[in-house]
Order: sequence, then C-alpha cells, then structure tokens
Amino acid sequence: LASRSFKEENTVIKIKDVEIGGNKIAMMAGPCSVENEDQIFKLAETVAKSGAKILRGGAFKPRTSPYSFQGLGVEGLKMMRAAADKYNLLVITEVMQISHIELIEPYTDIFQVGARNMQNFPLLKELGNVKKPVMLKRGIAATIEEWLMSAEYILSGGNPDVMLCERGIRTFETYTRNTFDLSAIPIVHKKSHLPVIADPSHATGLRDQVPPMARAAVAAGADGLMIEIHDDPERALSDGPQALLPDTFINLMKELDAIAKVI
Ligand code: PEP
Ligand code: MN
Repeated sequence: LASRSFKEENTVIKIKDVEIGGNKIAMMAGPCSVENEDQIFKLAETVAKSGAKILRGGAFKPRTSPYSFQGLGVEGLKMMRAAADKYNLLVITEVMQISHIELIEPYTDIFQVGARNMQNFPLLKELGNVKKPVMLKRGIAATIEEWLMSAEYILSGGNPDVMLCERGIRTFETYTRNTFDLSAIPIVHKKSHLPVIADPSHATGLRDQVPPMARAAVAAGADGLMIEIHDDPERALSDGPQALLPDTFINLMKELDAIAKVI
C-alpha cells in the first residue's frame, strides 16, 4: 500500500488548512519536551511568527535513561494544546504505547511514532485504526525497506494518512549524534507516494548543523521539516544541544523560503 506501484500520485495529507505532501513544505517546530506553560507559549508564539503552522512537543518522552526527565504527560498535552490554539497552530506529539492513544487523541492533530518504536508492531496496528495522521520516524538502525514495511502496518490497518520522517541513522561516525541519510528522501519518494519529513535536529544533534541540513533536506525534496527550538537551550530538560534559539529559527525559515515555499 505504501509503494508507488500501488498508488502513483503523491499522497497529500490535509489537516484543517494545512497540506502535507502538496506544493508547500510543512514546518513542524517546537521544543523537544513541553516543560512548563511559559516555555510552550513562548515557543508557540515563535512558531506562529515564523509563518509555520505546526507545533511539536513531547509530553511522553522515550528517554535513553530512566533517570532522565520523562515528560509532563497529560499536563504537558493540555499546555501544548492551549498554546497551539492561541496561535492557531496544529499539534504533533509522540505516542509511545497503545494505552496512551485515547489519552493523547483529543490534544493532538498528528501522532508521532518515535524512532525507538518504529517496529512496535502492536502500536502500529492500533494506529491503523485512528482517524488522525501518523508520522512514522525511521528507526535508529532501520533500512528503508524496514521503515516502509512499518508504514505498511499502519496503512493496512485502514489509516491512509501516514508520513515518514528521516531522523538520522546510527553509523560509525560519532561527530554527529546520528548520520543524516539525505538520500533517503529521494529514495523514499521514488519507492513510495507517502510524504517525507526530515528531522535535522535529531539527525545531527548539533545546533550549528541544523540549518545546513535543513536547507539540504528541502533541496532534496522533503515535504516537511521537524526542528527543535528552545528559548533557553542551556537549561532545556532534553536535547538542549540541538535546539535552535527562536531568532535563529526565524532566520532559517526566511533562508528556506529562497529554496521552496515553507509554511
Ligand atoms: C523526538 O522527536 O523528540 C524524538 C525523541 O525523536 P526520535 O524518536 O527521532 O529520537
Ligand atoms: Mn528531541
């Protein structure tokens, strides 16, 4: 169902007035984690000011260490929904387990499946039954074939609104947090009709590498970008080193506009 041979024309996912996979590039930006009301409202304002339409933020976080901040849970979802509504933004947030789908559903417009859950097949099957789009991140060590097969689980469950997200893969290189697989973008476009989003934040883990890789992703044909921002990255509760400051993000949006129309 994910393949170009099954469906030739590109899938365009429509959510309110936003299209993903159409002529414009959809920017999803916000903090790694929702931390408090003040933070998420400030960053939602930045996202709206930049011209972007989708606010990202984690409330249930898949942290490598059980001792790291795990997210604010439902309280975080409530704060993010209120901030998004104030600035007329859509919300994307991660769902880690089946029992949270119903809990998260009222607060989000797009479900994100994180890299660590790309092959959580029971979760993928369950997301085949939801009425909202799903963004499936590529697993940390997943091949493109495996990634597309995971998308197949959601599609075959009856949910046609699946987008894929390249977020870097693990290689022998350690300078960057992951290795951004830029060619995955045109390869997936060749093999599949599904929209492809690029996440240069998790792909590089380095603030200064995010703008060049964002530009590269757009030039390579990405249908959208996911970028982490923070107003005080030094004090961020997760992924501070890769977060762009609000001003840097707004400048990046202007730069990207020279390559393609980004909203
Ligand atoms: C995230 O988007 O904050 C995240 C945890 O991403 P990934 O699943 O790609 O590591
Ligand atoms: Mn993150």
